[in-house]
Amino acid sequence: MSFQNPVFIPGPTNIPESLRKACDMPTIDHRSPLFGQILHPAREGVRKVLKSESAEVFIFPSTGTGGWETALTNTLSAGDKILAARNGMFSHRWIDMCQRHGLDVKVVETPWGEGLPADRYEEILTADTNHDIKAVLATHNETATGVKSDIAAVRRALDSAGHPALLFVDGVSSIASMDFRMDEWGVDVAVTGSQKGFMLTAGLAIVGFSAKAMATTKTAKLPRTFFDVHDMAKGYAANAYPYTPAVGLLNGLNEACAILLNEGLDNVFARHTRIAEGVRAAVGAWGLELCAANPSVFSDTVSAIKTPEGFNATDIVTHAAEKYGVAFGVGLGEVAGKVFRIGHLGSLTDVMALSGIATAEMCMVDLGLDIKLGSGVAAAQDFYRGNTATAQKDAA
Ligand SMILES: *Cc1c(COP(=O)(O)O)cnc(C)c1O
Repeated sequence: MSFQNPVFIPGPTNIPESLRKACDMPTIDHRSPLFGQILHPAREGVRKVLKSESAEVFIFPSTGTGGWETALTNTLSAGDKILAARNGMFSHRWIDMCQRHGLDVKVVETPWGEGLPADRYEEILTADTNHDIKAVLATHNETATGVKSDIAAVRRALDSAGHPALLFVDGVSSIASMDFRMDEWGVDVAVTGSQKGFMLTAGLAIVGFSAKAMATTKTAKLPRTFFDVHDMAKGYAANAYPYTPAVGLLNGLNEACAILLNEGLDNVFARHTRIAEGVRAAVGAWGLELCAANPSVFSDTVSAIKTPEGFNATDIVTHAAEKYGVAFGVGLGEVAGKVFRIGHLGSLTDVMALSGIATAEMCMVDLGLDIKLGSGVAAAQDFYRGNTATAQKDAA
């Protein structure tokens, strides 16, 4: 691996220099008002990135997976019914966590490559006239397959069914890179981590709780200690944590939010759409297809690219690392060996993306795939030339 090249894994993502510096700080007393000056603006910044007026933001020394556990253990009790669809490795792992916590999950099996079936959710919720289902899980962006789902449609499914279940959204690979609207979509718990859209190292679980989710915490009986949001809220009121916070990362998070809000969330999302469109243009020029079933579910943060039958897609990832010092993502679970993934989230420009496309292309040619050197790069160049950030600004 080279420390010079950007990474093209779908998290952890590339860390801007200013964020590395923000994380590198001397020890401070984490029970002092000075810590409050880092903690509270970071929580406020996250709330804005979530597009919420009133969410309670909690930040744990953990990762996205800890954010899932925070959502479940603070709001549910053993035996509670949960509705979830399985359409990739991450939705699968969240379901597995529910089951290990003794929750009763109604799983809607969904082909990998397709989005969450909001219509099936609506049928199931409508049939649940006793309102036994306490929460609906939705993975906004399936990082394993490069599939985004329509969270507004899941909210409509709940509303059409007149169902009061909580809506939990895994936004680990979407939040801060793709449009996410906590309030507008009526999301009750939004979950992410520090190492994807927020462009930091792994180490923070970041969650937003709606007022409704907070109310549910009072009756929820699943055991929780480390991830108890009430202990955390008590700590925050005294500029502290119930334990030792990751101060440097929180300082980095504060700075990351400033960077994102300064660029403008809509500009951040437009940049990710543009970069992703360039990658997709390259995939088309290679004569390959995405795992994502159709354009309505194409992810703007990760592309899972199918390789021809009989070819081991993981070889591309191994070869890229060994020969060119560049990291791509391997296929996971059901699509292991069938796809390789180009991560294009976080701190990335068109020009950086071109280097990843060029590298993927060299690897595929090296490994004997019938692809013309330069074909994907040229398709992406064509796209970026006509759609640069400046060109878009001029058009606006
Ligand atoms: C990365 C990821 C996770 C897991 O997050 P960790 O920070 O590795 O615990 C969960 N869900 C999705 C969609 C992800 O992309």
